[in-house]
Amino acid sequence: MRPTVFLDRDGTLNREVGFVRSPHMLEVLPFARPSLQRLHDAGYRLVVVTNQSGIARGLYSENDLAAVHARLHHELGELPDAYLHCPHHPDGAHGYGGACACRKPGPGLLHQARTLLGVDFVGGALVGDSARDLLMARGLPLRTVLVRSGKPVAAERAALQAAAMTADHEADDLVGAVDWLLRTH
Ligand SMILES: [Mg+2]
Ligand SMILES: [Zn+2]
Repeated sequence: MRPTVFLDRDGTLNREVGFVRSPHMLEVLPFARPSLQRLHDAGYRLVVVTNQSGIARGLYSENDLAAVHARLHHELGELPDAYLHCPHHPDGAHGYGGACACRKPGPGLLHQARTLLGVDFVGGALVGDSARDLLMARGLPLRTVLVRSGKPVAAERAALQAAAMTADHEADDLVGAVDWLLRTH
């Protein structure tokens, strides 16, 4: 089975600008598409996993998110195999409140990928710009890469340290993450 690279969205594939409420707010990072192409050519499946609590907060709808992901998919050369998101927030309303199993740092979206897409974790990896991205992979056979292209990295490193976890690798951005993944797989 082809291994899978799980990718955070905001700060990893597109610029971290807070909530992306509509396609015109989406700014795909220039290296994202060629980086995904390299992973694709190396045989990896690509799955985007993203917290989208803006839905629970009433900032945008599932339809708005679908429009954002349609744009993202186009700009990424239609390379990702799937986009999985958590629309919830503990304080949310609109039917999306309360605890859920899929909000990162929980592993729920990864388990959704296994159930819905039949992906295997073995030989795979996870790339993200925040501690909660990497924490979702804790205990799973995924290599983890923290990228410095999104949230201020010092706080993310500290959050990882507080949770007694360290990234397997740290890179400036997805380019460096892919360099490392392809060099070490
Ligand atoms: Mg992020
Ligand atoms: Zn959720």
